[in-house]
Amino acid sequence: LALTDRSHAAALDAADPLGAYRERFVIVDPSLIYLDGNSLGRLPAATAARLVRTVTEEWGDGLIRSWDQWIDLPTRVGDRIARAVLGAEPGEVVVADSTTVNFYKLAVAALDARPDRRVIITDVDNFPTDRYVLEGMATARGATVRWLEVDTVAGPQLDDVAPLLADDVALVTFSHVAYRSGARADMTAITSAAHEVGALALWDLSHSAGSVPVALGRSNVDLAVGCTYKYLHGGPGSPAWLFVRKSLQSELKQPIWGWFGQRDQFAMGSAYQAQRDLRAFLSGTPSVLALAAIDEGVALVEEAGIAAVADKGRALTDYAIALYNAWLADLGFLLGTPRESEQRGAHISIRRADADVLCTALVGVGVVTDFRRPDAIRLGLAPLTTRFVDVWQGLAKIRDLAK
Ligand SMILES: *Cc1c(COP(=O)(O)O)cnc(C)c1O
Repeated sequence: LALTDRSHAAALDAADPLGAYRERFVIVDPSLIYLDGNSLGRLPAATAARLVRTVTEEWGDGLIRSWDQWIDLPTRVGDRIARAVLGAEPGEVVVADSTTVNFYKLAVAALDARPDRRVIITDVDNFPTDRYVLEGMATARGATVRWLEVDTVAGPQLDDVAPLLADDVALVTFSHVAYRSGARADMTAITSAAHEVGALALWDLSHSAGSVPVALGRSNVDLAVGCTYKYLHGGPGSPAWLFVRKSLQSELKQPIWGWFGQRDQFAMGSAYQAQRDLRAFLSGTPSVLALAAIDEGVALVEEAGIAAVADKGRALTDYAIALYNAWLADLGFLLGTPRESEQRGAHISIRRADADVLCTALVGVGVVTDFRRPDAIRLGLAPLTTRFVDVWQGLAKIRDLAK
């Protein structure tokens, strides 16, 4: 079978050990080619049922009494994320707030933990919210962002970061998988280099939690944050997770002191005393409905197993790149993603000057992708819900429109 035959894609689907997982999701329009699971993951069927239960039984019937079972959702769901996809210990991950707010909390905590150091390192191509938070925080706290210029395909490399490291650096922070290129950084090596100069490392795993293997413990990562609505299928606007390595939890202080971080919350005491564990990184009342949805999404990923999920992501992106080589490389495109599978996540970026026009035209022929400025069509190949025939169809449509 030729690689470019649809039947080749169908054969890959037939042999896919995770193929049956697609049926665990709500798919209203089977003809839609959805290649944007890295912006918003599909809805698991179990989530709809769980939400009905949470709303009618726990809220409708249980009312305030249900807080008994709700109060520890941030830590319970956090522990599930820790073991299912992050390679972290129980008590190292909680769910709260947005990725943006969690990133702020952890970045401030890191900067405050190194009061004699005023430099933060990140890259110019990092996700906008991370860059904005760092800018705002640096302005407010008299710190400086030392911007790393990066190759827009390869992303931050240890050899580029190393020359910027010095004993004035408090914090080194990057995305593990870059939102545009899909480039995967060497988290272990860059963290180790940051530690050598006494800095802390904070990683944004929004595009890697649930798509690639991660071992925050073994990688010796200090701090991390990530979304739950992408590869974890938590639903639109579902709150984010944050990770703080156990040994740092009593040392670091986050800046948003609220009653959910207070040691004896319901004593309603006069002065703030932070919890002794990770709950100190909570602030206000958690979003119970969203947490119930995240629990179901992560449970599906856990059941499938992150190793198998990551294998499928690698196979899908390999296949997409093979079709790119066959169909698109000669049409004036640039592959905006590393070709080496260990150096990328589960999305790829195909670049040409008219990418925005192509993305709009693709929607018209039933293919949902993302346009990312200035010139990238981003194809998110969420492993649990994307078929090889979807990749085939999506790339074929791009070829037809681009000719
Ligand atoms: C999607 C994404 C976010 C989103 O942050 P929110 O606060 O949830 O809007 C943050 N960082 C990265 C790298 C992302 O890809």
